[in-house]
Amino acid sequence: MDAAEFRRRGKEMVDHVADYLEKIEERPVYPDVEPGYLRSLIPTEAPVEPDSYEDIMKDVERVIMPGITHWHSPNFFAYFPAASSYPAMLADMLCAAIGCIGFSWAASPACTELETVMLDWLGKMLQLPECFLAGTHGHGGGVIQGTASEATLVSLLAARCKAIRRVQSLDPKKSEAEILSKLVAYTSEQAHSSVERAALIGAVMMKKVPTDNLYAVRGEMLKKILEEDKAAGLIPFYFCATLGTTPSCAFDHIADLGPLCNQENMWMHIDAAYAGSAFICPEFRPLLNGVEYADSFNFNPHKWMLINFDCSAMWVKKRTDIIGAFKMEPLYLKHENQEKNKTKPLSVILQHWQIPLGRRFRSLKMWFVFRMYGLQGLQAHIRKQVGLAKEFESLVRADKRFEICAPVVMGLVCFRLKGTNELNQSLLKKITKSREIHLVPCQLSGSFVLRLAICSRSTESRHIQQAWQHITQLAFELLQEHHH
Ligand SMILES: *Cc1c(COP(=O)(O)O)cnc(C)c1O
Repeated sequence: MDAAEFRRRGKEMVDHVADYLEKIEERPVYPDVEPGYLRSLIPTEAPVEPDSYEDIMKDVERVIMPGITHWHSPNFFAYFPAASSYPAMLADMLCAAIGCIGFSWAASPACTELETVMLDWLGKMLQLPECFLAGTHGHGGGVIQGTASEATLVSLLAARCKAIRRVQSLDPKKSEAEILSKLVAYTSEQAHSSVERAALIGAVMMKKVPTDNLYAVRGEMLKKILEEDKAAGLIPFYFCATLGTTPSCAFDHIADLGPLCNQENMWMHIDAAYAGSAFICPEFRPLLNGVEYADSFNFNPHKWMLINFDCSAMWVKKRTDIIGAFKMEPLYLKHENQEKNKTKPLSVILQHWQIPLGRRFRSLKMWFVFRMYGLQGLQAHIRKQVGLAKEFESLVRADKRFEICAPVVMGLVCFRLKGTNELNQSLLKKITKSREIHLVPCQLSGSFVLRLAICSRSTESRHIQQAWQHITQLAFELLQEHHH
């Protein structure tokens, strides 16, 4: 493919993408294929002679589309949203064209510098305390991680390193292995599975803290476990709070938990993967009060802020904490501006903030989206989707056969048919089989609960009304079957 053909095919592809997204509603949201469906549809070996572009595009419809779960269908209500917008897609094209691997300032100065400034912009939109911003003199700063899971792991590893140094400074005879075996991390029993996984990878013990009747961790619950563990000779070193839990969008009480963590020399990380985007709205910002006690904070603009995957924003209060845990400097990565840059926060070397060395120019899509939408446009997107969730909530509340299972604070509604878990499992099976809408369940206090998350940018009130009609129709059939 030369530049001339690329121009032609590129324009066709843009049309193809716009057509796909404009007509996505006509496709069943959930695919009707069995595991292993794809292998038999394509050759067992890569072609020796080149294939034609036309043939590839034909195969996209024949091979790929039947096996796609259409996350951007207005009838997709599963998991949490995956952000998508045209400006972000265009920026990603440019990112592919520049194709730099921005691990150091010299490897592509704009890549490092734009990222640092975009994280400051975003931090200001969230009204993060000054200490998390890099500015030109700050000790904190932000970085783009691929996912919230990586941000949690990075924070845990940095906390582990800091804890070992702290204990050794008090008792230099203690070996690292001995300290490691005593370190304990904590998180909510409602936390995302990636938090437990971070402890597994980081080879430290992790304990789950029980939650209150609204599925949130309170200060006194953590305090009680800490007292027991300290008395048993263990060393608490890390707490991962969740703002907007995955099952029900519950909010841990960080304003109480934060001072406790500070007092106990524990690192507090905040995982606000989904809910974080909403903190750009003043009406939701109080839920972030207490962030000033945290050592690190993370959320996913790739969930709810119209910036396509992958883009997980992470801030730390002290850059040295995180860099200290990950720094490696082989000669081939050194560059002549390094000494000069050491004193300038804008020229931070972001490879020391993450697990991989290589990094894409992901801040481009933030820059495009922030400028094309403006703060107001982004706020409008959040408010519209919260409004749709409230609309669905009132439909559920008006039907006596159903119940709401957790407060509807943002764009997630947890609901179920009053009755057994089996009944609700059957309802979800019917919903999944019909392929008109897509939902996933969760477990709350032993109950099987249906979760409806407002996901697609194109979901409107009529889709909510249709979804509810569809659910009640299937519930009606199900209850009839049960009576006979
Ligand atoms: C979605 C989610 C995650 C995982 O996000 P990734 O970016 O896919 O790793 C972590 N924590 C919470 C609370 C989530 O909702």
